[in-house]
Amino acid sequence: MEKENDALRKAVRYLKGIGPKIGATLAKRGVKTVEDLLYLLPNRYEDKGALKRIEEMEEGMTGLVVGKVISSRPVYYPRTRKRVFEATVDDGTGSLALRWFQGPLPYLRETCEPGNTLLVSGRISRFGNRLQIVHPEAAVLDDGGEVDRYERILPVYPEIEGVKQGTLRNLVRRALEDCDHGRTSVLSREMEESYGLIPLSEAFAKLHRPDETMLDRVTHRRYVERLILEEYLLFQAALFLKKREAAAEEGIGFACDGIYRTSFEKSLTFELTEAQRRVIGEIEEDMGRKVPMNRLLQGDVGSGKTVVAVLASSMVLSNGYQVAFMAPTEILAEQHYLTIHKAFDDMGVPVAFLRGNMGVERFAVLEGIRAGRIQVVVGTHALIRKDVVFNNLGLVIIDEQHRFGVIQRKVLKEKAGSPDLLVMTATPIPRTLSMVVYGDLDVSVIDEVPRDRKKTVTRVYLDKDRDIVYKLIEDELKKGHQAYIVYPLVEESKRIDLLDAKRMAAHLQKTIFASYRVGLLHGKMKAEEKEDVMSRFKEREIDVLVCTTVIEVGIDVPNATMMAVEHAERFGLSQLHQLRGRVGRGKSVARCALITSEKRTALAVRRLKAMEKTGDGFKIAEEDMRLRGPGEILGVKQSGIPDFRVGDLVRDGPIMSRARRLAEDAVGRLTVEELERVKTVVKERWGHTLHLSDVA
Ligand code: ADP
Ligand code: MG
Repeated sequence: MEKENDALRKAVRYLKGIGPKIGATLAKRGVKTVEDLLYLLPNRYEDKGALKRIEEMEEGMTGLVVGKVISSRPVYYPRTRKRVFEATVDDGTGSLALRWFQGPLPYLRETCEPGNTLLVSGRISRFGNRLQIVHPEAAVLDDGGEVDRYERILPVYPEIEGVKQGTLRNLVRRALEDCDHGRTSVLSREMEESYGLIPLSEAFAKLHRPDETMLDRVTHRRYVERLILEEYLLFQAALFLKKREAAAEEGIGFACDGIYRTSFEKSLTFELTEAQRRVIGEIEEDMGRKVPMNRLLQGDVGSGKTVVAVLASSMVLSNGYQVAFMAPTEILAEQHYLTIHKAFDDMGVPVAFLRGNMGVERFAVLEGIRAGRIQVVVGTHALIRKDVVFNNLGLVIIDEQHRFGVIQRKVLKEKAGSPDLLVMTATPIPRTLSMVVYGDLDVSVIDEVPRDRKKTVTRVYLDKDRDIVYKLIEDELKKGHQAYIVYPLVEESKRIDLLDAKRMAAHLQKTIFASYRVGLLHGKMKAEEKEDVMSRFKEREIDVLVCTTVIEVGIDVPNATMMAVEHAERFGLSQLHQLRGRVGRGKSVARCALITSEKRTALAVRRLKAMEKTGDGFKIAEEDMRLRGPGEILGVKQSGIPDFRVGDLVRDGPIMSRARRLAEDAVGRLTVEELERVKTVVKERWGHTLHLSDVA
């Protein structure tokens, strides 16, 4: 096994027949190991059966020819002001012109170097009295160029500057031979068979040494999917391993009833939703077991995650343990502090707020935490500082978890033996993505909002109709309600005519909303200033809050019933959904106006229209992922989305589900050595993406 695997992980530069120059070029493209080379799949296949002589070519037909480049050069046509790269190929029966109207010159020069043998395909047309192909597919065969040396179906690889098709083909062939007798899959042949999978080695062979069947797209796709499954399977197996290891740790078994819980439940002024009850049950079960809980609580904005978190906290208190509650911003942390403080104050439970800079007061709080006098601590990143030492931390709760890196999550967790962990997010994540990003966590979903919630009425408005929006805002203000106006940028940008928050706050106060109180909130303000504005908004001392996306997460002001978003096209749909979640938190129907410039494309407007139709965060996230890719949804660099070689998370979601099922089973069947290899490979491939940094 060891030796066979070495063949896959061997550096490409040790393959026979590869010079240091080509090795370096390939490495630059991310092709470093023999395995990387195997995953470098042909872009397309050409059927030599369709090969024709140039003398047989006629206008209008699709031609595939092999010919030698006689000449090539860039040409400028002054009359039409067009730059064209032209080449002539000859196959001994005639010549054909190739023309490119754009394209990277160095690449074209290299491909069409006189003397090169090209495999060319494309539609034959006529230019003057000569036959030509405009924008042909052209690949340099190897130096000898005789096409007879190849099988009937030619794999055509992605162009890599400085590496000819023939060279690539030979290298891949050698790589295949190296692995032929070994094992390419993480699964044994028996396991592949029992799962009904095409053997991975067969898939590689088919894709790189194609026969006629590979011209059929459906067949081709089946083999590609086997490769995708393998990648996903490896990844998921690593997650299951991580989970299994976590489950072997000893955790605290909490008794989940008790006086604090009962009192808190009694104090609630509303009925818990069915979904809230269900996830509380799931959490309770986890907390009762002597294994650390690792649970993600997903729920759309306003679905009531905080109550669930506070309830979980109340269970911990009765057992004499401490709770740490971390939120990404001061504003949000303070809001949680107030909620929790209110919940526990009557019961005599000391709750502390740990903010970024709090002067000497901090020492008293730290001392209280260390001594165990303070039972619940709410705060921002300030919680993970070294000098915060807990007495007996039992539960860590992290709100809007995607805003934190896993490192921060770990640091906080490691402040105690093995506390339970509950992370929460209001960013609905499509299932496929959540299987990747949160694959090592157990997931609970609150898929229901409290019944009294009304759907927020959302409309897209063009710039020129802004007055209508102002009128809508005024209507709400007249009813004693409040409004948000959101801008994408803080300060005037030189490049574009974006309306910025600062300038507009001043302008609106002077003009349209002169008889109301306009406030300003943006990310560049000092923490105290922000808090001050936010609390004034909560106290209704501000009617219209002009702001940037700082209000995006978690802010809860039920009296705010109207939101206008300027330059809405600049936001992702998921982000707009988060923003919109700031309104519609009270009893009355709320409105959200998405303002966009007329100059915007129809596509942008169509994208925004999706917001009018649905209030379902999961549907919106799916759409967002389709339109803007998975990275955008999490909206942070450290999002932990691994890069797969062939698999595409948007396109290949169902394969991920299958891989997950197989991985769960496979992890139980693989030998210790095989599992060690999974860890090593996964760490090498994806170790830098945060969730896996501690796999091995
Ligand atoms: P989110 O899931 O967005 O964090 P919150 O926990 O902030 O939502 O809850 C939003 C609002 O809904 C809060 O004011 C909260 O008190 C209220 N709420 C939570 N659960 C219910 C319920 N079951 N019925 C009515 N209101 C609820
Ligand atoms: Mg929340």
